[in-house]
Amino acid sequence: MRALMIRKTGGPEVLEAVTLPRPQPGPGEVLLRVRAVGLNFADILTVAGKYLSRPPLPLVPGMEFAGTVEQLGSGVSGLEVGQTVAALAGHGGFAEYASVPASAVVPVPESLSAAEAAAFPVSYFTAYFALRTLGHAQPGESVLVQAAAGALGTATVQVAKALDLTVIALASSEEKLALCRRLGADHTLLNSREDLVQAVRDRTDGRGVDLLTEVVGGEGFASSLQMLAPLGRVLVIGAASGQTSQLVAQTLMRGNQAVIGVWVTPLAADPVRMREASGFLSELIAGGQVRPVIGRTFPLEQAAEAFAFVTSRASTGKVILEP
Ligand code: NDP
Repeated sequence: MRALMIRKTGGPEVLEAVTLPRPQPGPGEVLLRVRAVGLNFADILTVAGKYLSRPPLPLVPGMEFAGTVEQLGSGVSGLEVGQTVAALAGHGGFAEYASVPASAVVPVPESLSAAEAAAFPVSYFTAYFALRTLGHAQPGESVLVQAAAGALGTATVQVAKALDLTVIALASSEEKLALCRRLGADHTLLNSREDLVQAVRDRTDGRGVDLLTEVVGGEGFASSLQMLAPLGRVLVIGAASGQTSQLVAQTLMRGNQAVIGVWVTPLAADPVRMREASGFLSELIAGGQVRPVIGRTFPLEQAAEAFAFVTSRASTGKVILEP
């Protein structure tokens, strides 16, 4: 089968087109014919050797993908050959076939295309866990969503609206902000505005926001704290700028505020949390309130171009690779 592999970490040039034997599903595993791969910032960081987890090399990257069930390993029940499912597997998706533990399979509503199914798990579970499980979002509260036109951002805007939150969406271009408005964002602001903190305060009766998804990192984190209401929660989800942020913990005391780290991987490994999140999100998809936004689609062999498309901030929604 065709696959992309890395033998060392680095830029997208370390992705190597290879031919590998088709994997065999071991006990408790499911063999999928991969139809679409959701490209995540995490894949780019994994290839660069900068992600939260450092899997051993050589490695076929690709943490999130959708495909049809080709073969079931021994002991697997509840899945059928031919069924379309998504997988949240950590790696292995940049290939024609992938064998994944049954626990990594995410059932997807039939109404989703393969690309939409591949765009679903990481962004939507992260948005749900961040806002509801960790952020304890309450109806009527406000949330500021950074990089709101991106893969995670578009999911966060949709999930936030479904939770009855007022959404302030930030992005770097008017075109991206228009997409956020189409998804239901109540207010949209260019993230380059000099007066961003004041603009956010003006849209929240001077209070600031109750929740804020921090995905950019770097020095802007100080402004994020200035935009936060009393009892507000910052959800630290990523650092797309590649820059980490500093925090003086005592500054949180005055406003009884909280900064909360978010990583979807360990939460997704908890079947109870996943069942709850799946139930909530499936209903939203069935009701048409939530639909993954697909950006551009690239053939798998053009993964390096797809990486550059995302890191150059040109992408909207989820970028898809097709093996
Ligand atoms: P996106 O599709 O959102 O693309 C990244 C976006 O980040 C860009 O479009 C851009 O939006 C913004 N950005 C700001 N500064 C930069 C920069 N210097 N370089 C590149 N992009 C920049 O990607 P994802 O949805 O895959 O991920 C978004 C963030 O969320 C990442 O930091 C990722 O690691 C994190 N994440 C974390 C998860 C977790 O479990 N903790 C799960 C999923 C994602 P704009 O041009 O509008 O500023």
